[in-house]
Amino acid sequence: MTFRIPQKVNMIIEELMQQGYEAYAVGGCVRDMVLGREPEDWDITTSATPQEVKRIFRRTVDTGIQHGTVTVLIDKEHFEVTTYRLDGEYEDNRHPKEVSFTSSLAEDLKRRDFTINAMAFNEKEGFIDLFGGMEDLRRKLVRCVGSAEERFNEDALRILRAVRFSAQLGFSIEEKTLAAVKAKAANLNNISAERIRVELTKLLLSDYPDRLRDLYETGITRVVLPEFDQLMVTEHNNAHHIYSVGEHTLRAVEEAGRQEASGFDVRERTILKWTLLLHDIEKPSCISIGRNGQRHFYGHQEKGALTAKRILRRLKFDNDTIDAVVHLIRWHDHSFELTPAGMRKTMCKVGKEYMPLLFEVCRADASAKHPDYTGEKLGQLEKARGLYQGILNRRECVSLKELNVNGNDLIAIGMKPGRQVGEILAYLLEQVLENPGLNDRDTLLDMARERTA
Ligand code: ATP
Ligand code: MG
Repeated sequence: MTFRIPQKVNMIIEELMQQGYEAYAVGGCVRDMVLGREPEDWDITTSATPQEVKRIFRRTVDTGIQHGTVTVLIDKEHFEVTTYRLDGEYEDNRHPKEVSFTSSLAEDLKRRDFTINAMAFNEKEGFIDLFGGMEDLRRKLVRCVGSAEERFNEDALRILRAVRFSAQLGFSIEEKTLAAVKAKAANLNNISAERIRVELTKLLLSDYPDRLRDLYETGITRVVLPEFDQLMVTEHNNAHHIYSVGEHTLRAVEEAGRQEASGFDVRERTILKWTLLLHDIEKPSCISIGRNGQRHFYGHQEKGALTAKRILRRLKFDNDTIDAVVHLIRWHDHSFELTPAGMRKTMCKVGKEYMPLLFEVCRADASAKHPDYTGEKLGQLEKARGLYQGILNRRECVSLKELNVNGNDLIAIGMKPGRQVGEILAYLLEQVLENPGLNDRDTLLDMARERTA
């Protein structure tokens, strides 16, 4: 089999070689090319120094020049070109004290995390595979370059990355690497929340998000998401469930935004995955026992929303994502009233733009409960979705924004700005949610006059 790399990447490599330097595609893109996956981006490694790279290419950006990385722009695409590097001594399980450049490709490959990420390729020389990366790709193994323990001591993020790659690729973690993951998991304490968030989200969005279970079993969640461990040891003891809260959560996460069906973009899928991961996070603290001995979890939605906010803040998520996840968790257990007026009221309270996400949250949640009830629950959800769609199609009003009068209209017919206007608008909206036919300017103004008469 002959492997080809994109023309622009090849152009950059050939240009560097013509100027007398070595250059290769390296890391994740080489791995993905061999696996037939679409690489996220093409990284290039070269013996040329950053200054030399900048001299050779017309359009460049100093992205991480102190680490040797220069971005080369070709048309509208950009490619990271990094000088062969070797990492110095590591401190605190996270950053090398210093990085230095080297003229040796072997040194550069040696500092990389896993054998499957430590191969280089160009069309002239083919693959440079010094650590058995090809063989590990064939055997579907994530294995550290060199001693796993040492590599994890250098940078503890690699512990989480091992599981993340296994989830993205459907690979196993090689025995010694796995033993070191378990032995060193606690070192993740020294890693910044941002880096952990990035890896967790990649794992959640991967083809095998149930590898979260490995994070639990290896002791990683204990450090990065201890709240999750509590779910794994909490039983439901409730007729609607056959799994523990943790296993239910894993299944719901798997189900959420399944790519084929969903049509959700990455941002929405990120929101969905985190919502399902955290939707029952406060079930353990909300247990009560009913008369028939069954467990109930009253109030876990509201309490869980608050805890989710705390966790997402801790992980340094942006506010938009936090708001969306918190809102969806608050509503995840909603039982939809299956009438048009009931659905309009729900849309008003939840917000129209959240409805597709909420339906998906409810679908994933229902799919992960007792299979005997799933059919019925999904049937009800489909009815709810049908009602929602009808309301959209008929363009019925479900918010103040869509009401055919506004505050100024009310002031113009003599109402007092402030509280009175607010109350009347709320009253009108309530009436329109019951009966969409009332959403007509003259009708609403008459109703307002009558109300204040
Ligand atoms: P993705 O598909 O997520 O981009 P990737 O393999 O390209 O996967 P990146 O995080 O983009 O991963 O890193 C690019 C390359 O840099 C890796 O393939 C690996 O060779 C090296 N690398 C990245 N992070 C580390 C790390 N923490 N320790 C050692 N090498 C690393
Ligand atoms: Mg990458």
